[in-house]
Amino acid sequence: MTAESFDVVVVGGGTAGAFAAATVAREGLDAVILERKSPDDAGHIACGDAIKGKSTFPDVVDLDYLRAESFSNQNVQRAVFLNPDGGEVSVSFDDPGAVIDRKRYGEVLLEEAERAGAEIHYDTVVKDVRQNGAVHGVTAVQKGTPKKYGAEMVIDAAGSLSLLQDKTDFSETTFDTNVNYQQFCSAYREVIETPEPVDYDDAIVFKPTEELGYLWYFPRTDREINVGLGFQMNKQPMKLVQTLREDVEQRPEFDGGTVRDKLGGALPTRRPYDSATAPGYMAVGDAAAHVNPCTGGGIPGAAKAGHWAAQAAVEAISDDTTDEEHALWEYNRKVQTDFGKRFAAMDLYNIWGGSYDVDELVDIVSAVPGQQLADAIGRTGTTSMSLALKLKTAVKTFGHWGTITELARVGRLASRLRDVYEEYPASPDGFPAWREQRDTVMDEFHDLTGAARKY
Ligand SMILES: Cc1cc2nc3c(=O)[nH]c(=O)nc-3n(C[C@H](O)[C@H](O)[C@H](O)COP(=O)(O)OP(=O)(O)OC[C@H]3O[C@@H](n4cnc5c(N)ncnc54)[C@H](O)[C@@H]3O)c2cc1C
Repeated sequence: MTAESFDVVVVGGGTAGAFAAATVAREGLDAVILERKSPDDAGHIACGDAIKGKSTFPDVVDLDYLRAESFSNQNVQRAVFLNPDGGEVSVSFDDPGAVIDRKRYGEVLLEEAERAGAEIHYDTVVKDVRQNGAVHGVTAVQKGTPKKYGAEMVIDAAGSLSLLQDKTDFSETTFDTNVNYQQFCSAYREVIETPEPVDYDDAIVFKPTEELGYLWYFPRTDREINVGLGFQMNKQPMKLVQTLREDVEQRPEFDGGTVRDKLGGALPTRRPYDSATAPGYMAVGDAAAHVNPCTGGGIPGAAKAGHWAAQAAVEAISDDTTDEEHALWEYNRKVQTDFGKRFAAMDLYNIWGGSYDVDELVDIVSAVPGQQLADAIGRTGTTSMSLALKLKTAVKTFGHWGTITELARVGRLASRLRDVYEEYPASPDGFPAWREQRDTVMDEFHDLTGAARKY
C-alpha cells in the first residue's frame, strides 16, 4: 500500500474542507484534501444555494473572485412565507442576501485552496482512520488502489453523518457522540429553468410542508430557480421527489420549465456538537453540525469552522502537541461563542415547533406581522408593535394564545441558553460543569413544552 504524509489531512473538499486546507497552506504547512469525487464532479453538492446578507467568509481565499464567479443573484431583499391556504408574510432584510451557482462556488473554492498551496487528491474515498490513542492518519482507496495517509492532524470535513466518526475511538475524548440520524433532515432539490423571468427574484420564498419541513423557491437568477424541500428524520418519511413535482406542477412559472439538475442529501438540524475535537482530530462544518437548525443554512458556519480548526491545527503542530487541552480546545470555544450559541438557541424553536401541528404554526405565522415574528425569533429577540397592531394581532391569533405565550417563554429560555454558550469553558476542565449548566436550561425547556427529547 502506498503511503504519504502531510502535516494536515483534510477529508472532504466542500466549503469546510476548502477553507481549512487554504488556511493551513497559507500558514506554510503541508495540507492535502482527500475528495471522493472526480475533478469534474467536485463542488456538486445538494444545497438551496442561499446565503444571508450578513454572512462573512474568512479571507484566506480571493473573496472578490468567489463572488464574481458564483454569486449569481446578489439582490435578495426579503423572505416571503407563503400560507398554503393563500396569503403571504414578507420580511425585509437589512442586508441583501445572495443565491449562488453552487457548482461554480465549489469549484472556485477548490481552485483557491490549490492556489494557496494545498494538494487535492480527487477520486480518493477515505475508508478508515489510523489511530493509536490519537488519530494520526487515514486509509483510503484511490481509483481502486488502497492508500495510507499519515498526518499530524486530521480535519474531518466529510459532511453530514461522516464515516470517520463511525471509525474513530472517541472513548477517552470530549468529542460529542450523542448524535443520531433523527437529529438530521433529509432534503432534495432541483434547479429549474423557467421559460419567463419570475417576479420574485428579489426574494427567497418558503412554504410549510407536513412534518415541520418547508418547500423553498430560491432564484439563482430571474430564470433559474432552486426548488427544494426537506423533512426532519424524527418524523414520518416524506416522498420528497413526488411532493416537489406535485407542487411545481401547480405553479404557473414552472410550466414548460427545464430541470437542469437534481440532487438530495442529509443535513444536521441540531445544535452544534458540544465538542468537535479529539487528539489528532477535529470535525468541521456539517460533520460537526455547524448548521442553523431552523433554516438549514450551513455554508457560512462551515467556512468559519474550517478556518478556525485549521488555525488551531497549525498552532498545535507548531507547539508539537495535538492533544485536546492545548490549541485544539480554542477551536471549540470559538465555534460555541460565535454562531454556536445562536444555533443552539434556534434549536429550541426547532424542537418546540416539532411538537405542534403545522396548521397551528401556519395560523400563527400568518397572523403575527412578519417583521415582529422575525425579530422575535431572530438575532435580537426583541419585538416592538404599536398598540393598534397588538390588538389586531390578538384578534387574529385568538385560539392560539396559549401557544404564543409558550413561544414567548421559549424565547426567554433561548436567551438564557445563549448566555450559557457565551460562557463556554476555556479548557476541557470546565466542560462537564458547563454541560450540566446547559442541560439545566434544556430540562426547564422540556418541563415547559413537553416536547420529545432530541438529545
Ligand atoms: C438540500 C440541501 C439544501 C441546503 N440549503 C442550504 C442553503 O440554502 N444555504 C446554506 O447556507 N446551506 C444549505 N445547506 C447546507 C449546506 O449545504 C451545508 O451545510 C454545507 O455544504 C456544509 O459544507 P461541508 O463542507 O461541511 O460539507 P459538504 O459540502 O457536504 O462537503 C463534504 C465533502 O466531503 C466529501 N466526502 C464525504 N465523505 C467522504 C469520504 N469518505 N472520502 C472522501 N471525501 C468524502 C463529499 O464528497 C463532499 O465533497 C443545504 C443542505 C442540503 C442537503
